Amino acid sequence: MRLILLGPPGAGKGTQAKSIINEYKIPHISTGDIFRKNIKEGTPLGKKAKDFIDKGLLVPDELVVDLVKSRLDEDDCENGFLLDGFPRTLVQATALEEVLGDSMKLDYVINIEVKKELLVDRITGRRMCKDCGAAFHVSFNPPKKESVCDLCDGELYQRKDDTVETVASRIDVYLNETMPLVDFYTKKDILLNVDGEQEISKVFEDIKKALGSEE
Ligand code: ADP
Ligand code: AMP
Repeated sequence: MRLILLGPPGAGKGTQAKSIINEYKIPHISTGDIFRKNIKEGTPLGKKAKDFIDKGLLVPDELVVDLVKSRLDEDDCENGFLLDGFPRTLVQATALEEVLGDSMKLDYVINIEVKKELLVDRITGRRMCKDCGAAFHVSFNPPKKESVCDLCDGELYQRKDDTVETVASRIDVYLNETMPLVDFYTKKDILLNVDGEQEISKVFEDIKKALGSEE
């Protein structure tokens, strides 16, 4: 299955991705996670991306497209993948079509819908695992043990771009640059809308139903 997770920052893409990849046995490709890893390791890509990310801006298209192109070339993507946080612009969406060609068409784009008013609390209360990237929330999805990841015992931290100021610019960027993709994929008849304002487990149930695999 070749899938994209679409939705504003804080919609729950990363949270749902953990369940989706487990259910459908496909690799999770989060461009945000890849950038954070590169920043942590101080690679040239990380150095180029850091300022944009810290300011809540998008990393330039060509950097992201090259990165995704080479990731999709890896063997584990042969039978499908889950893209999370990519594409985020029409330029990226068009580039992805070219990369995939006719033989590797996308199956579905899962659009997680959450209204703007809920996003600030979700993002500022988010805590991420340093080791596996799992997302928790201080109130909505707290870890069993404070500051420790339920999945791998890794340490939880707050992302540098998860501040009130940066969130505002990330939401604006989403509305201006990424929202047009809803139309783009609706026209291709592969968009599945899911209500992301429900409990985490209910959102996942709806995703499975939308993908036609409920038991
Ligand atoms: P995204 O990857 O879309 O930016 P995340 O999956 O990191 O979003 O979720 C953002 C924050 O909201 C996290 O702290 C997460 O624990 C929390 N969250 C995710 N889904 C829900 C939900 N359905 N209800 C309440 N909080 C949620
Ligand atoms: P995310 O983890 O998806 O919230 O992404 C964190 C940040 O990484 C974003 O705010 C952007 O600065 C950058 N980023 C991630 N994916 C992309 C993308 N597809 N295009 C441009 N910038 C991106």
